[in-house]
Amino acid sequence: MSGEATIFDRIIRGEIPSHKVYEDDHVFAFLDISPLSKGHTLVVPKESKAYLHELSDESAAAIGRALPRLCRAVLKATGATAYNVLQNNGSAAHQAVLHVHFHIIPKFSREGLGIGWHPSSLEGEAGKELAGAIQDALDEASK
Ligand code: 5GP
Repeated sequence: MSGEATIFDRIIRGEIPSHKVYEDDHVFAFLDISPLSKGHTLVVPKESKAYLHELSDESAAAIGRALPRLCRAVLKATGATAYNVLQNNGSAAHQAVLHVHFHIIPKFSREGLGIGWHPSSLEGEAGKELAGAIQDALDEASK
């Protein structure tokens, strides 16, 4: 799916209007058109990739640099003291726009992100095996 123009590409290019709050060489941020709360902001890499794991290190670093700054600005502008940062990957994970984006969602008493969280438990042997598999994948990727 990556590489196809998305609605966010068109917003970045200025073909579709948005309430822009920030832009640099790699990052664009604007208000969500259907906010869950006042100040709901989307932070988007200019690199057109659908999923977080596809991003270049350069884009990832730029997003990482901009996100906390944008969170501080959203808190200051809205008066919120709590917020969620949400980043969905894949339609099964509630991703609607196939262009990487981070939601900054201020949390007020009623407004904001609702979370369904249903934890299971991690068994010792299975955890050891899984952590090893993830470490192996990281080692493989860095070769
Ligand atoms: P997702 O479910 O993919 O993580 O979230 C996509 C977000 O993009 C939604 O919160 C939706 O309201 C927002 N969105 C979709 N189209 C537009 C648009 O044209 N303009 C703006 N500002 N936000 C959009």
